[in-house]
Amino acid sequence: MLTMKFGGTSVGDIPRLQEVVAIVQSHLSRQPVVVASAMGGVTDVLLNTAQLAVQRETDQVAEKIDALKQRHLEVAMALVSDEKRREDLLQSQSRMFDELSNLYHGVGLLKELSVRSLDAIASFGEIVSCMQIAAILNDSNIPARFIDARTAIRTDAHFGEAAVDFSVTNENLRGALKPLVDAKIVPVVTGFIASTSDGITTTLGRSGSDYTGSIVARRWAVKKSGYGRCRRGDDGRPAARARGIVLPDISYREAAEMSYFGAKVIHPKTMMPAIENSIRSGSKTLSIRRTQYAYLPCRKFDGTGGEECDLDRQFEPCRGRRKRDGGGTGHFRKNFYSARARRVNVMMISQASSEHNVCVVIPQKDCSRAVKELREEFEMDIARKMSMT
Ligand code: ASP
Ligand code: MG
Repeated sequence: MLTMKFGGTSVGDIPRLQEVVAIVQSHLSRQPVVVASAMGGVTDVLLNTAQLAVQRETDQVAEKIDALKQRHLEVAMALVSDEKRREDLLQSQSRMFDELSNLYHGVGLLKELSVRSLDAIASFGEIVSCMQIAAILNDSNIPARFIDARTAIRTDAHFGEAAVDFSVTNENLRGALKPLVDAKIVPVVTGFIASTSDGITTTLGRSGSDYTGSIVARRWAVKKSGYGRCRRGDDGRPAARARGIVLPDISYREAAEMSYFGAKVIHPKTMMPAIENSIRSGSKTLSIRRTQYAYLPCRKFDGTGGEECDLDRQFEPCRGRRKRDGGGTGHFRKNFYSARARRVNVMMISQASSEHNVCVVIPQKDCSRAVKELREEFEMDIARKMSMT
């Protein structure tokens, strides 16, 4: 069994989508589950258009929606030849675009754009993309079914980057995917999106489809294969290219560290389910490939860093995203601001030997909240210090 995750670039245009079909076709014997992103750039358009909507730039909003519609329509025209199937797809997508348009309208009426609304808006990219991938596969005689991950992946209500409730998610995924795979139908699961127990749409954070891939792989298959491109040239321009040095292999933990520090080819949280999976079952679980070089050797991560591996320069460190989740949070929280400071991603801590001062490096966006919470946490200490001076 194999979980294949295709990123935005890999599903971003007609030639690439044709490659996706060929790749899935060639792995059919391994009972693949497909996880996919929105077409490249679509999430950005959706989020930027939300800003226009809140400013009531209705004409511009309409133009953006039309352009998105057109982009998807071109794919359907080129890659879904069966008329009925194409009609069904276009209708489903059209309903989605109508719903999206209503959301933008609502945002404009309220003149309010919360992170929660942004999650709802961003979810449309993956939905229309995966609808079309399922239709394209079916059209190529590969039985496939669109699966909206919001029906299976359960999270808390931390909009913008929600935390997965694995106990519910695992069962749901099994229930949703196993019957399909048993029936030789390829599930096409939306990356990036999920929902709370109340059914409110959440997202797993930007580039979160990687994480969806490993969530699905953890529960369901033993192998995740990411087809994506190291996104050199976008906002994560390489800070430095390690020319001439290719690591023969790399452990999950090393890969996780690299992704924390900007290697955009993989979302930082992606490694966690893979690590857990390899601890549980001892399986080798993760590889990253490029769609256009699908048959070249790939880089593997095997959890030990010790396995012989083929060479490819997939993992070029890029500047750009610098964030840290999961593992890094717990330490800090336990150590010193246990109760309140939730979800501040601590990237670095240093402490003078005198213990007179402690420095923490956190994302700027969390700054004012963290300071406020720290002040509350250390209220007594601050008061004591004031009374002493
Ligand atoms: N479409 C989402 C994003 O652009 C998730 C992903 O591509 O992984 O962030
Ligand atoms: Mg990606």
